[in-house]
Amino acid sequence: MLSRLSPQAPDKIIGLMQAFRADPRPDKIDLGVGVYRDAEGRTPVMRAVKAAEERLWRLQDSKGYVGIEGDPAFLHAIGDLTLGEAVPPDRVAAVATPGGTGAVRLALDLVRLARPDARVFIPDPSWPNHAAIAGFLGLEQADYRYYDAQSRGVDAPGMLADLERTGPGDVVILHACCHNPTGADLATGDWAAVAEVLNRTGALPLVDLAYLGFGNGVEADAAGLRLLARTLPEMLVAVSGSKTFGLYRERAGAILALTETAATVRGNLSNLNRQTYAFPPDHGARVVTDILTDAALRRDWQHELDAMRDRVQRLRRDLADSLRAKSGSDRFCHLAEQRGMFSLLGATPEQVSTLRERHGVYVVGDGRMNLAGLTEALIPRVSEALLDIGL
Ligand code: PMP
Repeated sequence: MLSRLSPQAPDKIIGLMQAFRADPRPDKIDLGVGVYRDAEGRTPVMRAVKAAEERLWRLQDSKGYVGIEGDPAFLHAIGDLTLGEAVPPDRVAAVATPGGTGAVRLALDLVRLARPDARVFIPDPSWPNHAAIAGFLGLEQADYRYYDAQSRGVDAPGMLADLERTGPGDVVILHACCHNPTGADLATGDWAAVAEVLNRTGALPLVDLAYLGFGNGVEADAAGLRLLARTLPEMLVAVSGSKTFGLYRERAGAILALTETAATVRGNLSNLNRQTYAFPPDHGARVVTDILTDAALRRDWQHELDAMRDRVQRLRRDLADSLRAKSGSDRFCHLAEQRGMFSLLGATPEQVSTLRERHGVYVVGDGRMNLAGLTEALIPRVSEALLDIGL
């Protein structure tokens, strides 16, 4: 049986992580995988997470199973954080999932159950797992225009024109904020225009929320999806706790479905959980719940998250300034204007390998750079390397 399997193409980002580990140069720089790093280059456990874990260790008196949909208190807290007052709670069906990836997978599983012939519209470019999961599930896919490489911003007219082609059997994947890999986000007016188009065509938005708090702050980062939630009859939101709470390996996530048929949708989502892994992971979810429901922990988490975002934005500005000073040109100013961890350098695959081989600077093959992987001390070297490869 097993010898019939054919080899799988390696995941590009995981392959990059392995190549980085194997590189013996002590001064190599990892700007590939999307994790936040502090000034010492570490991905820290947030203070509020440590405090909540300490409390859990003291007070938790059972590791017995929780419900198949996850802990209701977690789902309530994450729904509140994400949707605010945008929709009445009885219109929301939610289940916990292993991370944001689990939520995207469950969302597309749900779509396939409802409409096996659904088409999934994916921004060009997008996080590669969107297309990979849709493809694995056998769902038809279509790209929609998103990024304008010339202006290094969102091609809003192109995007809206492509979304006009959607219909009631279709799903449109949208990044809530900190678009991966471009760092180019929709403006408020663009969200309103998307809501208008989708209301008319009847397509279902699937909003991927993986970087809440990393763009312009929690409330601002949720504003676009809340606008859709207020305007549209149905929506799916895939929430990841990985970056927002620094809980990457704990796999804290949830899917929120906005619908008039919440009880049935919840039953279907619970059933998908049961078929896939039964009970979703609980530790990270419980930590998130403790943080969001304790005023002091929540304040401290918010401060630390704000500081992380400020740091990434400062690194973006410092890199853009350094590149302006060294190149005498403004062609890197988009780095300071974009949001979240990533920007596209506009580098060819050859330039990306030269960057790696000659300078020990690792970015993803499409030229995606994780700016949150920089430190102040590295900026002069990274900017010289970028200019050296001809950017
Ligand atoms: N969506 C996007 C756009 C992402 O960048 C990521 C993280 N790479 C995820 C979802 C999923 O994150 P996780 O499964 O680690 O929570």
